[in-house]
Amino acid sequence: MRSDNLKPGIAPAAILAAAALALFAEPYLPPTLSGLKTLGPYLALLLGAAVAYLFNRGRAFIALISLLIAYAGYEFALGVSGFAARAVYTALVVLVPANILAALAFPERGVHHFYNHRWMLLGVAEAVLVAWIAAAGASGVSGTAWHALLDNALLRSPPTPLAGRMLFAAAFIAAVARAWPKPGETASALDAAMAGMLIALFIACEWSRTPNVFGAFIAAAGAILLVALLQESHRMAFRDELTGLPSRRALQERMAGLGPAYAIAMADVDHFKKFNDAHGHDTGDQVLKLVTARLATVEGGGIAYRYGGEEFTVLFPDSSIEQALPHLEAIRASIEGYRMAMRGGDRPKDMEEGSKRRARREIDATLSVTVSIGVAEPGDELTPAQVLRAADEALYRAKKGGRNRVSR
Ligand code: GH3
Ligand code: MG
Ligand code: MG
Repeated sequence: MRSDNLKPGIAPAAILAAAALALFAEPYLPPTLSGLKTLGPYLALLLGAAVAYLFNRGRAFIALISLLIAYAGYEFALGVSGFAARAVYTALVVLVPANILAALAFPERGVHHFYNHRWMLLGVAEAVLVAWIAAAGASGVSGTAWHALLDNALLRSPPTPLAGRMLFAAAFIAAVARAWPKPGETASALDAAMAGMLIALFIACEWSRTPNVFGAFIAAAGAILLVALLQESHRMAFRDELTGLPSRRALQERMAGLGPAYAIAMADVDHFKKFNDAHGHDTGDQVLKLVTARLATVEGGGIAYRYGGEEFTVLFPDSSIEQALPHLEAIRASIEGYRMAMRGGDRPKDMEEGSKRRARREIDATLSVTVSIGVAEPGDELTPAQVLRAADEALYRAKKGGRNRVSR
């Protein structure tokens, strides 16, 4: 597994550690901070749910809202009766992981999905059922059946009853499966955070009789999803979806912080329009990924960005043109030397047909791609934006000069 794929685990691990540390620090905190103990979980869950709603993240929203309602219900039930508290606790540890498991079973469809009123109906049905059991069980006459239900081996608590533990395990496995990086992709922070959130929630449920532990880890569950939502939106703003390279916005931010000596190169795929027209847009996208894979290996301190379309920028924050040129030339040559196996629409479906066609040399055709590159440096007190424009002009010269070359 690449180290990139471990990154999404860092924030959840740090929040879990912070929750544990907070428990040790608690006796030494000034009394003015004690309000945080009661407010903290609500704050984290409410903020998380609001951000999930705003960012249209359905799974996170379902997880946070169902936990928020269950937590508020439990805090309320604690003041009503022992049985009510036990009933709502059982609901929290069974229904919340069940809801998360159900949300993970479906593809992410966002909060504003046409069929989402079904989730709302499910949530209301759950809340009504739990409130009814909690109220009915409190009565000495009618409540015996409900007492028997909560004494059942599957539901007996605390700590987390067997049914709850099984649902936690199933939801955790589903979350890890969702978070597992697909080939060529990096793991998503939000998917990984769902697994982290379940760990925090499970710790809270296991130690529910210690209010400090319970509160701290419920808050941690909310914070883990909240932070991941923010991380994901940052990634969406500053990373290009197709290639995974930092985007033009990231380039603009980096350009604002440059020192006096740097070089900017613009690279553009040659005759890319013909490529798209001849082989289709999907093959065109594959070519962009191929070019990206080469550009990302640039040495000499260069950073590759996707400027837009089939145009890329390579920024050398501490180099002159002279220093950058050999690295750009290396990139150009490595792209030229790469032979891309043709895949796409005309790929045969079954293997026999495939080998026949290979024997006829129909599909082992390879494509070659070239790029033209223009590079510029600040010189006579040009601003970074002007240097970028100068690189674009140099790129134009490279195109006019016959393409597949580096110009300055
Ligand atoms: P030149 O050698 O002069 O650069 O020729 P060109 O055809 O590459 O130049 P031009 O800028 O006219 O064409 C760029 C084409 O890139 C236009 C568009 O169809 C295609 N394109 C832009 N973005 C994408 C993308 O994300 N995916 C795919 N498949 N094609 C894209
Ligand atoms: Mg172009
Ligand atoms: Mg082009």
